[in-house]
Amino acid sequence: MNVLISGDHQPISHFVVVPLMAQGHMIPMVDLALLLAHRGSLVSLITTPLNARRLRAIADHATTSNLLFRLIELPFPCKSAGLPDGCENLDLITTVDLIRPFFKALDLMADPLKSYIRSQPPSPTCIISDQCMPWTMEVSDDLNIPRLVFHGPSCFFLLCTLKLAEHKLYEKVTDVHEIFTVPDLPQRIEVNKLMAQRFFDRPEMKDVMQQVEEAEDASDGLVLNTFYKLESWYIEEYRRSVGKEVWAVGPVSLVHKDAGGMAVRGDGCAGIDKGSVFEWLDGREKGSVLFISFGSLVRTRKKQLVEIGAGLEGSGVAFVWAVKEAEENEEVSKWLSEFEERNRNRSRGLIVKGWVPQVMILKHPAVGGFMTHCGWNSTLEAVAAGVPMVTWPHFSDQFLNEKLVVEVLRMGIGVGVKLPSFYQAMLEEAMVGREKVEMVVRRVMCGGEEGEEMRKRAWELGEKARKAMEDGGSSYENLSSLIGYATGLAANRGGELQ
Ligand code: UDP
Repeated sequence: MNVLISGDHQPISHFVVVPLMAQGHMIPMVDLALLLAHRGSLVSLITTPLNARRLRAIADHATTSNLLFRLIELPFPCKSAGLPDGCENLDLITTVDLIRPFFKALDLMADPLKSYIRSQPPSPTCIISDQCMPWTMEVSDDLNIPRLVFHGPSCFFLLCTLKLAEHKLYEKVTDVHEIFTVPDLPQRIEVNKLMAQRFFDRPEMKDVMQQVEEAEDASDGLVLNTFYKLESWYIEEYRRSVGKEVWAVGPVSLVHKDAGGMAVRGDGCAGIDKGSVFEWLDGREKGSVLFISFGSLVRTRKKQLVEIGAGLEGSGVAFVWAVKEAEENEEVSKWLSEFEERNRNRSRGLIVKGWVPQVMILKHPAVGGFMTHCGWNSTLEAVAAGVPMVTWPHFSDQFLNEKLVVEVLRMGIGVGVKLPSFYQAMLEEAMVGREKVEMVVRRVMCGGEEGEEMRKRAWELGEKARKAMEDGGSSYENLSSLIGYATGLAANRGGELQ
């Protein structure tokens, strides 16, 4: 077990933060941990050796900023769970058959975490664990420590899926293509079952889904990465429906005020030659560049990459396009290098490979649009940067996040996907042709009344996001309230190690 401790003040409280090991889950929880540390709390961030290597740079950055931030490495029992060695992050899982063993290995982290906490008295103030880490309930129960659950997705997604479950629509609707309305919402939101899938809603994961629900019901409150003015109605209704304390404390990405933290966010070890991207962006007109990235898990096939490329070229819009190394093979590399050379020569576009500093790119003044898969982190980062979106959901909560962006917030236009790309049999149906790509990119990027109004709304929401996180803003105050609540609970409970 390896412990890295930074900072040297007396903490006001001690939070044990337990993220699921997937980039879209770790990144916001590390940001939340940093926010707590900025408020004078000691934070122990629980992870495994491989993930600790990815987080080392951000932990070092916290150290130099004098924050009380510990990175705690617990062993990840790949072998006992039937996983290949080193398979410690969901982005390293290559087949769906490995998802079940991955969750089995997570369950086996309970005992090492209990031992770690017992070895470091006094008891921590509170555990904050990802919704997908229900095994932390056993740790908090055994050690008598308060526990909060962190939800990664939008409140809109959480509420829609809750309403669908309350009205038994997951059981009543049997045709996955049937379109129906989400009940009890102020807007008419229409979905099919595949667009409104809950986490773990697959036959082989039913037991995990049940554990997740139980751990959430038994928790002391829920933490959301959103802000009041973005989802006010949904937050109020969600709080009423779950009957628990709910704190909206985001956008947590705004914890990074300097380029140092932003540059190493997510995967400080990997990455592109960051300088050349920013040099290229520096030479472009304000708001003229479209940034394209589909998060950490989506893998786009060559046929679809070619259609995106042709659509971009057809639109005439300048672009920075993040293509993942895992998407490349011999055929893709050949096509990509020709495409890249052609566009680089015309100074029209840039392909970036590997892990890119997304938050920094979105904040660059030259970036005027974001083609996104609508992962909640990416969506909220675009909101925080005031950048309108071309929305292209692929799976999970992304379809409902798209509905929020396009139909409620009206700061994006969809490419029109109605089916998850995960379903092999549906891949052809989920394809988007070059004409559609070109048309939507033009609508978002090339002025006109529609584009201008969207840009204005995006800018206003970006301002509101920044205000929410400032001293006195709603998210700032909610985090104060969360710290106070957790400290009060811990004092009443006493904890095993007091
Ligand atoms: N991200 C990044 N660089 C990359 C790819 C992704 O910084 O090259 C970050 C992105 O800013 C976001 C997270 O990874 O914070 C992805 O989370 P999201 O919920 O958007 O999607 P997921 O990866 O879970 O599908």
